[in-house]
Amino acid sequence: NDEYIRKPDWLKIKLNTNENYMDLKKMMREKGLHTVCEEARCPNIHECWGERRTATFMILGAVCTRACRFCAVKTGLPNELDVAEPERVADSVALMNLKHAVITMVARDDQRDGGAGIMAETIRAIRRKSPFTTVEVLPSDLAGDYDSLKTLMDAKPDILNHNIETVRSLTKRVRARATYDRSLEFLRRAKEMQPEIPTKSSLMLGLGETWEEILETMDDLRANQVDIMTIGQYLQPTKKHLKVQKYYTPQEFGELRKIAMSKGFSHCEAGPLVRSSYHADEQVNAAARE
Ligand code: SF4
Ligand code: SF4
Repeated sequence: NDEYIRKPDWLKIKLNTNENYMDLKKMMREKGLHTVCEEARCPNIHECWGERRTATFMILGAVCTRACRFCAVKTGLPNELDVAEPERVADSVALMNLKHAVITMVARDDQRDGGAGIMAETIRAIRRKSPFTTVEVLPSDLAGDYDSLKTLMDAKPDILNHNIETVRSLTKRVRARATYDRSLEFLRRAKEMQPEIPTKSSLMLGLGETWEEILETMDDLRANQVDIMTIGQYLQPTKKHLKVQKYYTPQEFGELRKIAMSKGFSHCEAGPLVRSSYHADEQVNAAARE
């Protein structure tokens, strides 16, 4: 089926560009840093950077060793590791006066530790320069290497986030190299290593999953002690990426949020524009209240 379904009105939003935002953009270029907020053209950027003081940095380069069929990040052979990157990220976090910083990465399957060492160092650098900023990490599955995961958990992020992305039956088609069970195991092991650190995972909807499968994914995450869940609408980044099969209504997202909370998640954000890092600042508090 080559037909595109029409984008519903609740997804049509205008980006306004204020001065503060332009200054921040300029600083990112000067420091050679990448943010998911900009690169994924995230619709929440003004709310996050301006009001909430949250941003998502993408470290370890802008080129990924994997090619997931929903993701707009370039695929290829990545650059050498940039060992000065943790300090530059920490400088920017301080300059932006962030309340909550999310650090994500491209999958570095070319590295023995998957890049976990640099990610751990980034957490420590932010702690040194901005002791009151909470830090959430969103690593790849680190190729299922649990020594690498330990390196990361030992740096004590405030939230360990690893996205399941889609339901079991669609994982093979949607994600490259990652498996559904390995992501669940990754989340479970993170919890076992540091039980007091909340774990979190995100699901995209609209790739062809059934309602039943969404609920099964919630159960699978809970069975692996995941605390926080986010559910958002998949949007096709370019024509080469997977097509959207369904746009869920805000009401359906509301219903899913209620179901997730009844299944025991401490926090769930669900909505058409919800992204993995959306309202992440609130989730630290929610987890702390448990
Ligand atoms: Fe950035 Fe995440 Fe906010 Fe989007 S939701 S602007 S990616 S922090
Ligand atoms: Fe994108 Fe992550 Fe997949 Fe790389 S591993 S293509 S960054 S979703």
